Amino acid sequence: MKDETKIVTTGRDPKAHAGAVNTPVYHASTIIYPSLAAIRGKEKIPYTYGRRGTPTTTALQEAISALEGADGTMLTPSGASAVSLAIMSAVEAGSHMLMVDSVYQPTRKLCDRLMTRLGVETEYYDPLIGGDIATLIRDNTALIFMESPGSQTFEIQDVSAIVAAAQKRGVKTAIDNTWATPLNFRPLDHGVDFSVLAATKYVVGHADALLGTVAARGENFKHLQNVHGLIGYSVGPDDVFLALRGLRTMPTRMKQHQHAALDIAAWLQSLSFVRKIYYPAMPDAPGHDLWQRDFSGAGGLFSVELEPCSEEQLAAMLDNMRLFGMGYSWGGFESLIVPCEIVRTANSFKTDGQMLRLNIGLEHIDDLKDDLRDGFARAGYTT
Ligand SMILES: *Cc1c(COP(=O)(O)O)cnc(C)c1O
Repeated sequence: MKDETKIVTTGRDPKAHAGAVNTPVYHASTIIYPSLAAIRGKEKIPYTYGRRGTPTTTALQEAISALEGADGTMLTPSGASAVSLAIMSAVEAGSHMLMVDSVYQPTRKLCDRLMTRLGVETEYYDPLIGGDIATLIRDNTALIFMESPGSQTFEIQDVSAIVAAAQKRGVKTAIDNTWATPLNFRPLDHGVDFSVLAATKYVVGHADALLGTVAARGENFKHLQNVHGLIGYSVGPDDVFLALRGLRTMPTRMKQHQHAALDIAAWLQSLSFVRKIYYPAMPDAPGHDLWQRDFSGAGGLFSVELEPCSEEQLAAMLDNMRLFGMGYSWGGFESLIVPCEIVRTANSFKTDGQMLRLNIGLEHIDDLKDDLRDGFARAGYTT
């Protein structure tokens, strides 16, 4: 079955729910046990307590697992908590962790401010390191964490080469696959142990709910499920419903995001004051060849580097945009623009240019270009 069909058909069972097309929203903490044998665990029942799952959460878990090619998926209250769940499932006190230098900044803060306190050491590596990651693996390395493409600078990583080096030394791997989603890249098929999604972005797709997922196979999934239970993560059923609703249209939205982003990126590249486009689908982007090798499509989020400008010029542009909102998160239907704040400690990126990150939404391409064109003019950029 193709992904588009899987997305429409999985995680739904109208016959079990009075014919309703969508799985209902089960609001439940207490689940009543049918017998003493059941509460003693001698008789198997599907649900035991709201935090451990309901038919609503099962529906989303099944749908994500089908897309990821996973044995199971755990849901978390945000993408950030999905990242921490994957990390906590692989490390212990005394562990060394290799973290990609282009990682989403809150992940970096988790490592530097909390994991260090728990006795886990983080070492940052160049996103384009590929198989040379082998030289950084130590006897106590427990996890190699990837994010491809990287946040804000969009480097594509050689996942297969990194996984091969990790497996040789018995090191687990995890990837933040939020940009690609399993529609455009399937981490578990490449041997990655834990596949992380900020479902807040393309799965939910409407800028209204926060949610994260971590998918895995075999023993990895059992371990993940166990740690998830110990930490006590649970997701409200209304947010799960929003994710299920968003998921059904994700392939259609993703195609339009990619189509519009490619069009706008190509137009931007033709402007004299644009130095560089950081978008894996564009030929000069870092890791473009790997994107072609491994991915079946692109997200609609990319960065553009302009000639340097003053803070006042930038404010004249960004404070007066008509369509591009200035705000965090992305993957929703509306276009967004934010100035990049790039933190790198493995020396993997440096520029004096003005970097902006664009989320290309579902508005008409011509209107988006007009908004950007007027914004550049306000900032004093002339072609
Ligand atoms: C947004 C984002 C997250 C965090 O997701 P939240 O739901 O906002 O916690 C994690 N990773 C990446 C790459 C993201 O863009």
